[in-house]
Amino acid sequence: MREPLLIVIAAPSGGGKSTVLKRVFAEVPGLLFSISHTTRPPRPGEENGREYFFVDRERFRALVAQSAFLEWAEVHGNLYGTTRGELDRARALSRDLVLDIDVQGAEQVVKSHPSALTIFLRPPSLEVLKARLKGRGTDSEESLAVRIRNAEIELGRAGEFQHQVVNDDLDTAVNEVKAIIAAEHAKKAV
Ligand code: ADP
Ligand code: 5GP
Repeated sequence: MREPLLIVIAAPSGGGKSTVLKRVFAEVPGLLFSISHTTRPPRPGEENGREYFFVDRERFRALVAQSAFLEWAEVHGNLYGTTRGELDRARALSRDLVLDIDVQGAEQVVKSHPSALTIFLRPPSLEVLKARLKGRGTDSEESLAVRIRNAEIELGRAGEFQHQVVNDDLDTAVNEVKAIIAAEHAKKAV
């Protein structure tokens, strides 16, 4: 059983993680999406156990008390966390685990797993980010305001990541993420 590569991808909300990752998953074999737990209510089209495990705060707190999380954080007013079970699942399947998490979670993962590969996906500008978030149409005005305020903080922490990819042209961003993963594999193979 080989130790899976931990690939941490962070971006401000609306930065394009879901869009870029969907393409990366379709084009790179051997990746496993880490399914987080969250107290956020599901969006239309989201399924429990596919995008997230949707739980209430009581259940989330119980998991924290059991040390079930590799990392967890409060993001935009909801709790989100990656269980250690996701890493076990990747090990068992010999796949590389992709964590779509926020900057606070990324910091925790790097502390416990210094060999993690960290990528920050940035929008071309804050204006483009606002327009994309609005265009996605999944968030209330209140939720949008929180996400934009947090985006400014998260963008300020992009330098903590090993790689930064600008998500302007989608194809270019996808190719850059793929190249970063391929380079990491090549490094491990030496
Ligand atoms: P995240 O998962 O990081 O919150 P999404 O993938 O949902 O972000 O992207 C936010 C919105 O921006 C979506 O409506 C998506 O279609 C759009 N989007 C993402 N990447 C691009 C891109 N490169 N060019 C144009 N629109 C994009
Ligand atoms: P969304 O509600 O848009 O799905 O996600 C909001 C934010 O929470 C995103 O930045 C996403 O990366 C982050 N997130 C999702 N899952 C986790 C997790 O398990 N841990 C942490 N720390 N952040 C997460």
